[in-house]
Amino acid sequence: MTTFASPSSSNVAPSASSSSGRIFNFSAGPGVLPEEVLRQAQQDVWNIDGSGIGVMEHSHRGKVIDRVWDEAERDLREIGGIPANYKAIWLTGGASQQFFQVPMNLMSQGLAGGGGSADYLLTGHWAKLAVKEAQRFGAVHVACTSEDKNFSYIPTAAATKYSPSPAYVHYTSNNTIFGTEFRSEPANRPANVPLVCDMSSNMFAKPVDISKYGLIYAGAQKNLGPAGVTLVIVRDDLIEKGNTNMPALLQYRTHAKDGSRHNTPPVFAVYMVGLVLKWIKGQGGLAAMAQRNTLKAKHIYDVLDSSTFFKGTAEPASRSLMNICFRTPTEALDDKFVKDAKGAGFDGLKGHRSAGGMRASVYNAFPPEGAKALAQFMRDFERTNG
Ligand SMILES: *Cc1c(COP(=O)(O)O)cnc(C)c1O
Repeated sequence: MTTFASPSSSNVAPSASSSSGRIFNFSAGPGVLPEEVLRQAQQDVWNIDGSGIGVMEHSHRGKVIDRVWDEAERDLREIGGIPANYKAIWLTGGASQQFFQVPMNLMSQGLAGGGGSADYLLTGHWAKLAVKEAQRFGAVHVACTSEDKNFSYIPTAAATKYSPSPAYVHYTSNNTIFGTEFRSEPANRPANVPLVCDMSSNMFAKPVDISKYGLIYAGAQKNLGPAGVTLVIVRDDLIEKGNTNMPALLQYRTHAKDGSRHNTPPVFAVYMVGLVLKWIKGQGGLAAMAQRNTLKAKHIYDVLDSSTFFKGTAEPASRSLMNICFRTPTEALDDKFVKDAKGAGFDGLKGHRSAGGMRASVYNAFPPEGAKALAQFMRDFERTNG
């Protein structure tokens, strides 16, 4: 069984000039993975558990993968404090598949569990795509939107108007492209309506009270592992109430009943998430992640707050711990910043095309010293270009 050392005894300190040949990777997704995890995976791809067979070559119903599955679920439940009346399932199709799988199961008109309508909080690009897909299955009520200011803020509870009895309320806890994040679950929601969350880009970045949710989904490639698997945590009653009149593979109950092994699952991706969960555990769990992530973000936000050259694009009260978006005074300087940064060993800083400027994604696995180094690079860049 693999275990990872706690941070105090860890000797892994990647740096832009480290002999490992790796650089600081600020990619928004797929994102950086812990070095300990990659090194363990290198071994297990060749031969896992002394079986003489690599992790990708084992039957998904054999003993070795049973072990991988059981440990991933156990660690997931322990780290996340997942109550017993929730199932955790591993699916494919990315978070984007959940944009339609959620309404298909929970909202479809005239079918069990579906009220025929759902409420959506429209706070960014991904939320918008979720709305679009949900509209195929019923009436979507947009409870609030921040599109008037290019999604640079999270609307207040007072500005959020729910419909009387939606099948569920859906929100995006962290808006990856615009760098905004909900501080807590949306308030003043209609009573007894399940809360559904796209947590793709801040899943397990801080403690989360699962019991407040009906369903949480997260594509793994931001904070949990590699692309190819989506984690869905869903309450038992919603699985039971879900639409039955659709393909078995799209019903949550199928995967819940068969332990995410109804058909061949993305074994390697789940194995990798399992290692990342062990790494999170070794770091001290979600409270430690929150502390680590707050410190990393502070390095960079402190530069933005003390600069007349750089400007953060998200309103301070809505700022994300995971995706830090900023600009220089001109687009030409933005381009120069990205180019110079790349030369100095900082990759992936160009902002999404719909937001422009720069974006530093500092997911769980991103090393604190990389955030500190970027802050210093920003100060130096301002001095020579400001
Ligand atoms: C990246 C991302 C998605 C899209 O994920 P895919 O796995 O590519 O479908 C959806 N929602 C959020 C919040 C994201 O960050």
